[in-house]
Amino acid sequence: MAEWENNVRKAVPYIPGEQPKEKDIIKLNTNENPYPPSPAVKEALENFDCKEMRLYPDPEASELVNAIAGEYKVKPEEVFVGVGSDDVLSLAFMTFFNSDRPILFPDITYSFYDVWAEIHKIPYETVPLNSDFTLDPEVYTLENGGIVIANPNAPTGIYETVETIEKIVSANPGSVVIIDEAYIDFGGESCLPLTKKYDNLLVVQTFSKSRSMAGIRIGFAIGNAQLIKYMNDVKFSINSYTMNRTAIAAGTAAAKDSEYYKGTCEKIIRTRERAKNALTRMGFEFPDSKSNFLFVKHKTVEAKTIFEELKKRKIYVRYWDKPAIKDYLRITVGTSMEMQKLFDALTEILK
Ligand code: PMP
Repeated sequence: MAEWENNVRKAVPYIPGEQPKEKDIIKLNTNENPYPPSPAVKEALENFDCKEMRLYPDPEASELVNAIAGEYKVKPEEVFVGVGSDDVLSLAFMTFFNSDRPILFPDITYSFYDVWAEIHKIPYETVPLNSDFTLDPEVYTLENGGIVIANPNAPTGIYETVETIEKIVSANPGSVVIIDEAYIDFGGESCLPLTKKYDNLLVVQTFSKSRSMAGIRIGFAIGNAQLIKYMNDVKFSINSYTMNRTAIAAGTAAAKDSEYYKGTCEKIIRTRERAKNALTRMGFEFPDSKSNFLFVKHKTVEAKTIFEELKKRKIYVRYWDKPAIKDYLRITVGTSMEMQKLFDALTEILK
């Protein structure tokens, strides 16, 4: 190791799901939406004037912020936008988790949380989920410097009720509680209304899943105006221009067309419910998912074997070689046709 390397910030990065370069694959490994975004997005991009690119974008992304505020019936000062919810969450960690006490999150959850805690030098403790992967709100009364919970949780897909979330938020007036609702539009009830009642609650959502826009990178947070101000102060201390002009234009169009994404979410929910029946018949077990993915374990065949066999057939699902979840596969809900191809492949593999 060179001497200068002693002074390097060393990170163990998050490993995102594979983005294979081949074309003719069935991609059910990163919880993307199988449907295109709203036609209003296409129109906005077609009307986008490239001459505008020479100018910096609006550092406040006001058009997008206002559209989101309008859609969720909150004030623009209560909305923060970023480059995907990963950007919003990382910035929220940096802003709100600034205590010597450990932040808390479940032991099985989105595997970026510990990566952000490490990179931002935030002490953390993971809290065990119940054996059925549900969450016990009583455990979140331990002394802490903040809490982050994904609801529905990833990779389990389990949804906790607004009452459960409220128990945690109300028990922790001394900490900011971040609820990561990346998958809330697939059948859960958002805890957004609680932001009116609790000034320590930040709700984070994304355009990547229900709005089919993972490729353009838009995430947002809603919370009390003071929370949002603190986030903006940190953002403007790092990079004022996180949201580019095309993202602002496309995101604004999408935010104004909620009807569209609610329709595609309904299709995904119907496909998911049919998939639950088909997978059960094939001998899979899984917690009840309210997201756009299923976290499945086969009664007899190892997850890793199924994962590899599917890959040979150009069907990509997600597998983690981690002790707590190595028996499971996470399967994103695709179109009915993609799911049928998955079931056909599984039938062959399980024979
Ligand atoms: N939270 C959870 C629980 C996720 O699974 C993801 C997707 N990997 C994200 C946040 C981040 O999504 P994005 O940055 O695309 O908004």
